[in-house]
Amino acid sequence: MSILIKNVLLKDKSCDVYIEKNRFSKIARDLPLSADIVIDGSNFAILPAFYNTHTHAAMSLMRSYADDIELFSWLNDYIWPLENKITEEDVYQGARLAALEMIKSGTVFFNDMYWHALGTARAVKEMGLRADISLVLIDAGDPGRSAEQLKKANEVFKHEKEFPERIRFTYGPHAIYTVSEKTLRECSNLAKKENRRIQIHLSETASEVADSLRNFGKRPVEYLDSMGFLGPHVTAVHCVHLTENDRAILKRRGVSLAHCPASNMKLSSGAFDYPALKKAGIPVMIATDGASSNNNLSMLESMKFAALWAKSLSGDPRTLPAEEAFAMATRYPAEAMGLDAGRIEEGALADCLLINLRHPTLLPSGNLITNMVYSANPECIDTVICDGNILMQKRIVPAEEAIIEEAEAAFQRLLSR
Ligand SMILES: [Zn+2]
Repeated sequence: MSILIKNVLLKDKSCDVYIEKNRFSKIARDLPLSADIVIDGSNFAILPAFYNTHTHAAMSLMRSYADDIELFSWLNDYIWPLENKITEEDVYQGARLAALEMIKSGTVFFNDMYWHALGTARAVKEMGLRADISLVLIDAGDPGRSAEQLKKANEVFKHEKEFPERIRFTYGPHAIYTVSEKTLRECSNLAKKENRRIQIHLSETASEVADSLRNFGKRPVEYLDSMGFLGPHVTAVHCVHLTENDRAILKRRGVSLAHCPASNMKLSSGAFDYPALKKAGIPVMIATDGASSNNNLSMLESMKFAALWAKSLSGDPRTLPAEEAFAMATRYPAEAMGLDAGRIEEGALADCLLINLRHPTLLPSGNLITNMVYSANPECIDTVICDGNILMQKRIVPAEEAIIEEAEAAFQRLLSR
């Protein structure tokens, strides 16, 4: 399969982009090539697509189910009781709804943590996205449940060969306050042995830090480091409450950090200190978190929140400029997640967006990246290509109506169960 995009704007210059199989093959002016699909790129700019480094896709089914509630009550009184009843079919329906929303807002990859991971994987396979999918591990601090938890993850991994390469299975221990040290240690050892990534919620709230100091005599980052858990294969999610020593540890271990500005603000988790992380040289990537704590999966909106919040906290509008926010949603996460993507270059994986330059939020035609971060909404994204396949064109995603209707029905079934 080949795609030729003619006369598209790439970094202020018009050119042709030729995609062969799943990579950008040639990028130049007036390419003398034919292709299976030819797209007229006039009035479009080509940009890297978005890589969402932390979400719980199937929680789209719980959007607006419990809002404006403190984190631990939100989890204990609302989310976890509903999740006790959730089935793999519900997860599939929720993840399909999430994938639809992600495609329509320009995201081609997400790093997921949730129950019934095979339901999510089936949705991703059908919808054509990339994903790192982890089965969430929670043993409620009971080391006796460690083997059972890891067995469940292993059951999921056995199905890996049924899915294309763009879907990878990873480890997802929920947090230090829900997972015992035994499970954390074993999970870490297995991830290293099997060469899998890990994601974990870390230092999200002040009470998580206080509990960690009381229970383990260490802050959350120190506690994980003391068991050899941290490394370049780890995505630490949130990291709102860090000391200088915590940041030094994360830097030393090469950990990547997923910043979820909308979720942090909505749950009043605290003041994420972007300037301090930047100074410490820690890679920061932007993520949405799940749709029940955001409540959408738009990376456009999360880029803007990240930039505005960083400026607001620092008192300096030069903090986290638009170019940096855009890189934190595209190039940086692709690199951190080990994907040869996140850039429009010959040889890179063919993931990209065609942006409608005539959309009102992008006019007049000034700085496109600044407009994407501060002004754009998803409607300006006309076409989404992932792994050399067109997932959306003219804003149409196949089977959209069926996905919407089936997700609504799945939510009603879940509520009445
Ligand atoms: Zn989360």
